[in-house]
Amino acid sequence: PDEAEAEALQHADVAALLPVPGAESDKYRRGVVGIAAGSSRYPGAAVLAVAGALRGGAGAVRYVGPAGDAVIARFPETLVSDQGPKRAGRVQAWVVGPGAGDDAQSVAEVLAQDVPVLVDADGLRLADRDLVRARKAPTLMTPHAGEAAALLGVSRGSVEAARLHSVRELAERYGATVLLKGSTTLVASPGGGPVRVNATGTSWLATAGSGDVLSGLAGSLLAAGLSALDAGSVAAYLHGLAGRFAADGAPMGAHDVSESIRSAWRDVM
Ligand code: AMP
Ligand code: MG
Repeated sequence: PDEAEAEALQHADVAALLPVPGAESDKYRRGVVGIAAGSSRYPGAAVLAVAGALRGGAGAVRYVGPAGDAVIARFPETLVSDQGPKRAGRVQAWVVGPGAGDDAQSVAEVLAQDVPVLVDADGLRLADRDLVRARKAPTLMTPHAGEAAALLGVSRGSVEAARLHSVRELAERYGATVLLKGSTTLVASPGGGPVRVNATGTSWLATAGSGDVLSGLAGSLLAAGLSALDAGSVAAYLHGLAGRFAADGAPMGAHDVSESIRSAWRDVM
């Protein structure tokens, strides 16, 4: 439909954008990604976002929130803190929102920092539009159609009927890069410019938690220094491919997707 005018990244484009460490690299220079996600009700969202972030190319993953024990049990390499995003220490990019419940405070603290921020899930609802608009560092918002509809104040159906228009409209309203999820993924930056489309995915990705993995993955790429447009579209590309590899024609869980990101990365390289 109207998505025909969007541009798709190819394998070679993605390969050229993936962050690869060199002899001069150390974990801090590779980037530290902060994950402010999860709640006592949804600790798994934190685990899945961290799972995605660990495979995204940042040198370290810092987790801030109430699910630290669950995160550490699964991923002992995570730097965990319960002090809140403001006191978290060095972070080059933040992911805020997956499973966050009503933690508006963390969302505001993250948005106040002058580093790239990815806002997903509950964070989209809690993010103040003026605060987002006032940011100088890049913001990447990652709604599915229902979340995009809520932000635009329209029905889900009208977003689905005009996805290209909707993603552009959201980017302008928030002054942010917006990644609209669905059977294909669209990524638009504010100020016009070409919209990116990704179709590497599979319908098996329509499973709980798969968006949380994408958030962590894209946040890691932001921390490694990619622009919001590149981080979003490269993450969608790898996530889609990882979904295909993980599913291989059978049902899967979101953690399976996170475990196939490394295969997707190798396939692209
Ligand atoms: P979320 O709704 O936040 O869990 O995100 C779901 C993820 O799965 C996004 O990356 C979507 O693009 C992807 N996804 C959902 N449904 C489909 C589908 N039918 N085909 C391909 N990818 C999908
Ligand atoms: Mg989601």
